[in-house]
Amino acid sequence: MRPADSPLPELSVPELRRYGRHLTLPEVGEEGQRKIKAGRVLVVGAGGLGSPLALYLAAAGVGTIGVVDFDDVEESNLQRQIAHGTAAVGGSKIASIVARLTDLNPHVVVVPHEAYLDRTNALAIVREYDVIVDGTDNFATRYLVNDACVLERKPNVYGSILRFEGQASVFDARVGPCYRCLFPEPPPPGVVPSCAEAGVLGVLPGVIGSIQATETLKILLGAGDTLVGRLLLYDALEMRFREMRLKKDPLCPICGEHPSIHELQDYEELCGVKPHAADALEITARQLAERLTSGEDLVLVDVREPHELAIAHFASYLHVPLRTLPARAGELPRGKPVVLACHHGVRSMRALEFLREQGFSNLQSLAGGIDAWSREVDSSVPRY
Ligand SMILES: [Zn+2]
Repeated sequence: MRPADSPLPELSVPELRRYGRHLTLPEVGEEGQRKIKAGRVLVVGAGGLGSPLALYLAAAGVGTIGVVDFDDVEESNLQRQIAHGTAAVGGSKIASIVARLTDLNPHVVVVPHEAYLDRTNALAIVREYDVIVDGTDNFATRYLVNDACVLERKPNVYGSILRFEGQASVFDARVGPCYRCLFPEPPPPGVVPSCAEAGVLGVLPGVIGSIQATETLKILLGAGDTLVGRLLLYDALEMRFREMRLKKDPLCPICGEHPSIHELQDYEELCGVKPHAADALEITARQLAERLTSGEDLVLVDVREPHELAIAHFASYLHVPLRTLPARAGELPRGKPVVLACHHGVRSMRALEFLREQGFSNLQSLAGGIDAWSREVDSSVPRY
């Protein structure tokens, strides 16, 4: 971070030419553009939200942009992750986004953090930046980013998306609520589906990511009213924005009056993402393969949508999409073991819970879904 009393960096002639439309704005001007140039922003995730927000931050001239990601670019990312092109499929997201941002604006420094952000590295990385922008798509990283920002006293520009709906806010525990004031504990695993499970309209992260970029620039400029203390809700189908007032929770476990959290935790464990070996409700891909090879008379029920089966399917299965399960549960055999499967193991667990309530027993859910099957048992099954 730049010490508060150090002078703002000067703008070169090419920079003055490039940022002309900013310099004309009285709220930005040359001093504001120098503040943007002095800014150090960390973008967590180079995916749906990270793509548009990093592109706009780079275009705006944010001097130092750190990007954290450890994934590779997949074909199914391109529908919304606009920083990456078709030629980048199969390569790392970090390499792809660094190349794109540097091409967009050679005057900014892009710092790649090709790492899985966790309790061991988050504080050290967050400490290097002025503003943290959360472009993650899972609860474990979201709680990690929130806690790291509270502990390091940094603003956390939050965004999340699912299906046709998005949310954005600015969490800054020094002056307002944090994410845990809103949601003290993560939801039980499987209750909130991921975008991979439930889908997302491709342009939605463009809307929410652009709002996050706007808030980040306002924080660097010290201009306008940010979303501190407000949760912005966006519904793309209705084309409506709503707003919720957020209050700091005096009982918040990390930013409240008597906090119980003083250091980073194990967020995968907190969010129930870690597999439990003893949990008989789940079966691993390898265990399922062994039981099928041994000739056991079990029924594999695939609860995914038809278009997913067209991409990848098991050798033998009964197809009952999750949404049709209430009407078609009667088709399932009652006397045989049933293994439920989906893409990543979330929908199949919901199917299992539903069927248990209907009085079915001898049910298991394939942990990690057909994706785990492809990775661990049969690599000829395409991943998506
Ligand atoms: Zn809080």
